[in-house]
Amino acid sequence: MTVPKTALVTGASRGIGRAIALELAKRGFDVAVHYGKNREKAEEVAAKIEALGRRALVLGADLADPEAPAGLVAQAEEGLGGLGVLVNNAGITRDNLLIRMKDEEWEEVLRTNLTAAFKLTREAVKRMIRRRAGRVINVASVSGILGPPGQANYAAAKAGLIGFTRSVAKEYARRGVTVNAVAPGFIETDMTAALPEAVQKEYLAQIPAGRFGKPEEVAKLVAFLASDDAAYITGQTVCIDGGLTPH
Ligand code: NAP
Repeated sequence: MTVPKTALVTGASRGIGRAIALELAKRGFDVAVHYGKNREKAEEVAAKIEALGRRALVLGADLADPEAPAGLVAQAEEGLGGLGVLVNNAGITRDNLLIRMKDEEWEEVLRTNLTAAFKLTREAVKRMIRRRAGRVINVASVSGILGPPGQANYAAAKAGLIGFTRSVAKEYARRGVTVNAVAPGFIETDMTAALPEAVQKEYLAQIPAGRFGKPEEVAKLVAFLASDDAAYITGQTVCIDGGLTPH
């Protein structure tokens, strides 16, 4: 079955999510642009999508709030007339060394980066399997594979997302729904701009490609996984990191 050209992208007000929403719109998708705090930025993204001749819906919800994800998929489904693609992109870091890490730093990262994706995927897949068509793409991270120091919470959440992707992919592979993850390396967004210059330099030295990635590069990979051409790919985690992660 052809996947409907409608998508919900979480955390689409900025960074990688914004680029994904715009790339999908360029490829003919109507998009629900989800945001946490930055409604104005989400509205700018929606205006760009509309300028491309596609429909855009702006939906706000704090994904650190355990109750928030519940209504989001239903709103996107209703507003777009059926949901073909869910991109679980919203994410945060709260870096700290283990012995200094507060419960709240651990819990907020797990709730936002992993539990919200579980709840949104559960809601979306229920609907996708009825149509026997759908795509779920989880934005993980190379941190979930490499486990950098200072990121026990983030690495655990992203590794969790990779395992979640594998399990759910197998459950619904016969029902026309694929579930994949992308694992970006160091991508130029607000999230990485917040890192001290010395840390950025240290990362750069380890990247075989000799440069950081751009949100648009991740967006093109996600758009491919969302396409009908990717129908036989499921349960995978694709690193997009300039060669950083060994396999
Ligand atoms: P970013 O520039 O910091 O943007 C984060 C996005 O997530 C924003 O749209 C933000 O919405 C949303 N968000 C954050 N907390 C939220 C919450 N509690 N509720 C709802 N929305 C929330 O981050 P990014 O670099 O684009 O990262 C996007 C994804 O890629 C994340 O999952 C991140 O872990 C992953 N990633 C990034 C990199 C990188 O190098 N940048 C590498 C690997 C993986 P508002 O601004 O509206 O609050």
